[in-house]
Order: sequence, then structure tokens, then C-alpha cells
Amino acid sequence: MLPYRLVYHEGYDLRLGEHVFPAQKYRYIHDRLLRDGFATAEDFVRPEPAADADILAVHEPGWVQRLQTGTLSYQEVMRLEVPYSRELVEAFWLAAGGSMLAARLALGQGIGFNVGGGFHHAFAGHGEGFCAINDIAVAIRAMQRGGCIRRVMVVDCDVHHGNGTAGIFAGDTSVFTLSIHQFNNYPTEKPPSSLDIHLPDGMGDEEYLHRLGNGYRAAMAMFHPELLIYVAGGDPYCEDQLGGLSLTLEGLQERDRLVIRTALNSHVPVAIVLAGGYAVNVQDTVTIHANTAHVAKEMLEEAGWQA
Ligand SMILES: [Zn+2]
Repeated sequence: MLPYRLVYHEGYDLRLGEHVFPAQKYRYIHDRLLRDGFATAEDFVRPEPAADADILAVHEPGWVQRLQTGTLSYQEVMRLEVPYSRELVEAFWLAAGGSMLAARLALGQGIGFNVGGGFHHAFAGHGEGFCAINDIAVAIRAMQRGGCIRRVMVVDCDVHHGNGTAGIFAGDTSVFTLSIHQFNNYPTEKPPSSLDIHLPDGMGDEEYLHRLGNGYRAAMAMFHPELLIYVAGGDPYCEDQLGGLSLTLEGLQERDRLVIRTALNSHVPVAIVLAGGYAVNVQDTVTIHANTAHVAKEMLEEAGWQA
């Protein structure tokens, strides 16, 4: 049995049909981890959908109500860039419940892995860029309200800036947001994170790891979080359709090692969420996310984590 749990639900699939967002990737990753013998059925846990109270601790009541009643304006649906459906709303509530569960499991086992989530473009009062509910923020608020922790760091390595997360936690000294992203990419407007590492187009493994390591280690030394949320986006990959960085599969694995090892060595538990990944070949996206699960096991064993 794995030394940590994989949080997964069939309902994570956003059922988008033909769309650049491969919403079926969650099932593919689940299947790959089983088929490769990395995990067995017992390693997976099913989340409950987040309670409305948990969602409302982050999101504005009007936005939540319009999502639940299917009364979004035309402009709101356009901004979301995914077609509205009942299943879509259920999938976002499940993803938030999944990230909450992954965070809670991380506090006990060192790692919690949501095979979903990472919807970092969702703001308190609107959604955009395929993201309606910010599961990262929902998980953080739930852990803080639970009373066991206060200081949380988000390390967002998706190729796109974590604008929603940055907006939600602006001015909140209990949450440190770090975003490392391609500057010349969506979103055009980037509300400041606690630390933004803006990268030029085409950056490769070595320089990326150098820039991330410097910023992240300095932030860790200064902030001392009690929980880290790792937004392990697969879209900095060189063959990504929506990304313009040039990381290799090996470079992305090295990135996973850097983020997870640094936290565990400082006795900071890590909750992992997936975020984007739009490789030309969807199986590369599956490999990138599956590799993160492998690295998490490797790092947990290396650290000899004791709950
Ligand atoms: Zn992205």
C-alpha cells in the first residue's frame, strides 16, 4: 500500500466533449496508476462534494447561487470558457471536496494527493479560464477554520499565473502565494501574488529550476508555513498547446522533487493538486501527473515522515 492516499472521484470529469481541456485526464491518470502497479484500489479515497458553507467561505453568495441555479450571464459563461452544465457544477464541488480531503490527509501523512483540482483562475465573485470554484482557496479556508493550522503557502507551478488565488488572498498575511509562470501568457492581468516569478518565453529545465529554487527556498525560510499546497500544473511542458515554456518530462519531475523535498525536509506537509496540462498527446499529460505521484512517494520515503 502507498504511504499516502490518492483522492479521486469519477465525477471529476467535467464532460466537456471536444475541448482543449482534456477533462477525461483524471480518469486516465487513475487508470494509469492502477495499470502500472503503482497503486491498488485501496490506495484511492473518494471525496464528498464540498459543503456550500465551505464554498461560501471563499466565494461570493451571488456567484455560488448563479452557478447552482444555472443563471450565469452570457458574459460569465464566455469568461469561464467551458460550457455550463449541471455536471460541471458538481465536478467543481467535488474537486473542492477533494482538495479539502487531500489537505487534511497531508496533515496526518505528510502528503495528500488530489487527482484533480488546481482551479487557480477562479476568483471570489467570478470564474474564468476553465475555473469556476477555487478549490485551493476552499481547502485553505477549511483547514484554517478547522483550527489546527493557520499559515499556508501555495506554490503554483502551472504555466499560467495563479490570478484567482492571488486575488482571493491579497492582503491576507496567513497565506503566502508563490506563482512561477510564463509572463507572456494568459491571464493578461496578473494581480500580485506574495511572490511572482515571471518567466520569459521558451525557458528550459535548468534555468526554470534555478529560478524556482531561489524564490521558493527564500520564501520558505521567511514564511514557515504549516501546510504547503503544490499546484503541480503539467502545462510548462515543451509540447503543451497552451504553454510557451520548454520543460522536458525529466525537468518537470525534477521540479516535483524540488518542491516536495524542500517542504518535507522542513517538516511541512504537502497537499498536491493537478491544475492544467494540454500536451499535444494527452498521454504525455497523464505521464506528467502520474510522475508527480511517483515523486511524492519517493520524497515521503526519503524524508522518513513521521506524523
Ligand atoms: Zn495552466
